[in-house]
Amino acid sequence: MKTILKKIDKNNIDMQVLEDAGEIIRRGGLVAFPTETVYGLGADALDEEAAKKTYAAKGRPSDNPLIVHITKYEDLEKIAVDIPRETAVLAERFWPGPLTMIFKKDAKVPYGTTGGLDTVAVRMPSDAIARELIRASGGFVSAPSANTSGRPSPTKAEHVMEDLAGKVDMVLDGGSVEIGLESTVLDMTVEPPMILRPGAITAGMLEEVVGMVSIDETILGAESETAPKAPGMKYRHYAPKAKLTIVEGNIREEVLAIRQLVYSAINGGKKVGIIATDETIQYYSNGIIKNVGSREDEKTIARNLFSVLREFDGEEVDEIYSESFAMRGIGNAIMNRLDKAAGHLRIPAADIVRRQRYRRIVFVSQTDTCRGPVAAELLRQKHLQQEYVIDSRGMVVLFPEPINPKVEAIMRSHGMTLEGYTSVPFSGAEIAGDILILTMDEVQKNKVLSEYGNALSVYTLNEFVGETEEVPDPYGGALNAYGLCHEKISGLIDKLTEKLNSYTEGGA
Ligand code: AMP
Ligand code: MG
Repeated sequence: MKTILKKIDKNNIDMQVLEDAGEIIRRGGLVAFPTETVYGLGADALDEEAAKKTYAAKGRPSDNPLIVHITKYEDLEKIAVDIPRETAVLAERFWPGPLTMIFKKDAKVPYGTTGGLDTVAVRMPSDAIARELIRASGGFVSAPSANTSGRPSPTKAEHVMEDLAGKVDMVLDGGSVEIGLESTVLDMTVEPPMILRPGAITAGMLEEVVGMVSIDETILGAESETAPKAPGMKYRHYAPKAKLTIVEGNIREEVLAIRQLVYSAINGGKKVGIIATDETIQYYSNGIIKNVGSREDEKTIARNLFSVLREFDGEEVDEIYSESFAMRGIGNAIMNRLDKAAGHLRIPAADIVRRQRYRRIVFVSQTDTCRGPVAAELLRQKHLQQEYVIDSRGMVVLFPEPINPKVEAIMRSHGMTLEGYTSVPFSGAEIAGDILILTMDEVQKNKVLSEYGNALSVYTLNEFVGETEEVPDPYGGALNAYGLCHEKISGLIDKLTEKLNSYTEGGA
């Protein structure tokens, strides 16, 4: 089947295109269209055969019911029975909008549409294109998300085309959707009404109108014994191709943990993605980093989430690490989708952060023009399993000085260089719980300890790796003395690398 793709301007809708699209649906065909939540795959909700086509195009399990979309409140009474009293006030407040309500179904609604259930889910969308299409199609349009079952829901026409080109009659391209997450599903057949799927209309907003609502406990959190009440919620959903892990903690811990996880995954030869936010993106450097939106305005995160998950499919990453979001307001819906996309894989950031004893290593020498910079550079060249910031500092640095020329000559003979490096004085900024200070000999160690009473992890380099002999100071000696010093440092850095890498064994 050739799929017709038509661009529609929301502010100036071409009614002829909409009439043609309506005609396709009235004849039993499929038309994908934008709504304010996500793109929907429209079909005649009262036509059993059309429902079958919908399931086939999406590859959706046929026990997963479709939502029927209407444009007039009176139309609800034509497809639902025993409509409870609070429905009118809820509709008054939230329709048209991203709220789906479930009622006992009228006999007119085929079981194909309701996935065999005696209930029917109904929503009145606000999107102008959606409304015109429903009207032109006869008033009752079933529309699940217009994606292949299991993939992230479509928030742009391009997403729909990726999944459904050749499988549907027409796609109406109305640009990017406004909300980006599917509607809130509220079961009106129970007292009090129960949220089966969180969305942009939150529990708090509903409670302002109807007093109490309950929440299906199974929709968030770990794998549960009981099946969720909305059949669709039981499937792994919204899932990118890569393994997605949610890292949970406070923001600082999340960033530190994700940095570590990404660093070691890349070390292991993996291609890795990060889901970051406006507020945290600057703290990442490795991996493919995508900004999902602003923590200050979580609506932006809702809008971008599915698109970002799809983008990672295009990048063919092996693993994705995501920060987590506060479980309030729309944050509940964001975390619900993210949790399902991750197949419930969530890890505490603090556990990861705790695994790394040191985050920064500072080599301290007398002038920072010889032994310290060499040690730092040799360590930087090593294959370290965790990420460290590696620096050198001098105890006696009155002004920045270049590297000693004999040191540079030796470095070059080993295929390395310290050209351009200038010495930096040691300061109180180098004292912190996660900084390892390694001095070249006892002189600097004692100086650090006497000048900074609060210094914790200060060792001579040889002491730290369990050797008795200090790094000799070649200052003023012949080139040969510098060569021997380099050799000594090189041996100690080999041992240091082993020791640092041993911290991760049995860990990650
Ligand atoms: P989608 O069409 O992809 O937005 O999915 C519709 C969601 O609404 C799925 O999670 C369905 O399981 C849920 N749903 C639709 N109709 C019913 C119903 N009658 N009872 C319970 N859940 C429903
Ligand atoms: Mg869906």
